[in-house]
Amino acid sequence: MTSRIPANISEISFDVIIIGAGINGAGIARDAAMRGLQVLVLDKGDVGGGTSSWSSRLIHGGLRYLEHAELGLVRESLRERETLFRIAPHLVKPLPILLPIYEHAVRSALTIRAGMIAYDMLSFDKSLPRHRMLTRDEAIVKAPGLNRNGLRAAAIYYDAQVEFAERLVVENVLSAQAYGAIVITYARVQKLSGQFMDSSRVVEFIDTRTAAALAARGRIIVNAAGPWVDEVLTTGERTSEHLIGGTKGSHIIVNSFAGAPSTALYVEAESDKRPFFIIPWDGKYLIGTTDIRFTGDLDHVEIEDEEIEYLLRETNRVISPARLLRDAVLYTYAGVRPLPYTENKNEQGITRRHFIRESRGQEGLLSIVGGKLTTYRSLAEQTVNLIGQKLGKNLPRCSTAGSALPGAYTDHSFPEEFKSDSGLSLQTRERLLRVYGARAQEVVKLTAQDEWLAKNFDEETEAIAAELIFSFRQEMAETLADCLLRRTMVGLNSSVGIGADKTAAAIAQKYLGWSETRVQEELAAYRLYVKRFHPRILSRRDLSPT
Ligand SMILES: Cc1cc2nc3c(=O)[nH]c(=O)nc-3n(C[C@H](O)[C@H](O)[C@H](O)COP(=O)(O)OP(=O)(O)OC[C@H]3O[C@@H](n4cnc5c(N)ncnc54)[C@H](O)[C@@H]3O)c2cc1C
Repeated sequence: MTSRIPANISEISFDVIIIGAGINGAGIARDAAMRGLQVLVLDKGDVGGGTSSWSSRLIHGGLRYLEHAELGLVRESLRERETLFRIAPHLVKPLPILLPIYEHAVRSALTIRAGMIAYDMLSFDKSLPRHRMLTRDEAIVKAPGLNRNGLRAAAIYYDAQVEFAERLVVENVLSAQAYGAIVITYARVQKLSGQFMDSSRVVEFIDTRTAAALAARGRIIVNAAGPWVDEVLTTGERTSEHLIGGTKGSHIIVNSFAGAPSTALYVEAESDKRPFFIIPWDGKYLIGTTDIRFTGDLDHVEIEDEEIEYLLRETNRVISPARLLRDAVLYTYAGVRPLPYTENKNEQGITRRHFIRESRGQEGLLSIVGGKLTTYRSLAEQTVNLIGQKLGKNLPRCSTAGSALPGAYTDHSFPEEFKSDSGLSLQTRERLLRVYGARAQEVVKLTAQDEWLAKNFDEETEAIAAELIFSFRQEMAETLADCLLRRTMVGLNSSVGIGADKTAAAIAQKYLGWSETRVQEELAAYRLYVKRFHPRILSRRDLSPT
């Protein structure tokens, strides 16, 4: 057993065991721990390593859900958007979105106008500006690259972006830990027992870092395994439940291009009339998404060539000077939305609402179905309220809406003061703020002990060596992939961290005592992992780490 796992794990009687440390599991863990429950979180991989890393990174009401009359969901999402501005201002930022209106589009100017008014009404308490309708000429001034053929007008409205959704998950987990939750990554749940006399269950899991077989006992089990929810249920006593009907969504990432818009664009695709986004993101552009029923291997979800072609074609159609070719794609990513199972329903028609399902005849086994990044906090609140009822405990009221995440700064002058400190380049300081918020100070503190830690380990992002140490010592990173893809975020640079990975491993060797064998194994594992992104750099040069 390693120090990641308490030696007496099997003797602790947990109130709640949460399976899955995606945004929903992390949010539930934080809320439950804050209300005094004894919480265990198990994830078969890293924190946020599932669907929560593969979204469009928007914190949005879902303008499109209005078409499906999901008014409750839109209102809840818009309220949560405001909450996230308060509790995670370092991660969640306002995002202006331009919606061009074309002559032959399915959604007419009138429909869009009505949608915009409804969206504003449902977010009556928002801090963001209201929508504005633009004439054709105004739209062209805003986005000169827009295809002018058939362009009639546009609307501009505000939503929000969580540039590094992975860190929203990490910070929820760190906060849960600070309130006493035990969080174990690389812990794959293998078996859920039936209920014992004291109404508890045993969850058997494998520590995949050491292959040790372990077990823990809990009174309520929350299955927050996202698209893997049904798979987790098959490890229990009844195996036939079919709760999830996942759909795959893919994105491509490109550098800025001719005619690239300065705001996000929300456009109706010509071929299938689905709306898709072109979003300025992390110094690049994130373009997506697709929506295709998925029944394949959830551990290996990749974009298909047709999806790349679809996204490039539709982007080139709406931005006339773009002319993006396949080679413009820096990398891609794909994930599966954990939507509720429905038979034969058109993908877009499937509700985006979330549900908390208790398995039939299995009291206290709760599964989370659906649940967006945007609404994770309210979903967590609803889940923990239900857990309180099930446990027969009078829990304190939920306080997560008023309790800032660890990197949030309450002092508004903090970013300017932090940026003006000397020692590191302005780009590095700005980036540290974007990634860590107020915790950037703790990263910088490490450089005071050893100047060498202030050196960049990635030229493009100017990430510094101290971040690497911080990720392993303070933020639960276990592998190079955890560190690059979900802590320092260097793995989302134009070359998915290839190149920086070698320097990072060398730093880990020097400061964290990695052996040469571990360095080689970590690099090989990292490069194998990032292949799924179809990175451009892979097709251009030999990728072997040495
Ligand atoms: C293409 C796409 C675009 C999206 N865009 C947006 C958007 O812009 N805004 C928004 O709000 N939402 C968006 N979403 C939705 C959102 O990303 C997901 O609904 C949300 O991240 C689901 O989180 P989760 O915690 O339920 O699941 P996940 O993040 O998948 O977490 C589940 C976890 O369970 C773990 N697990 C699985 N099996 C086991 C096991 N046996 N033992 C232990 N652990 C296990 C996995 O390792 C994983 O970490 C998008 C989704 C997709 C796919």
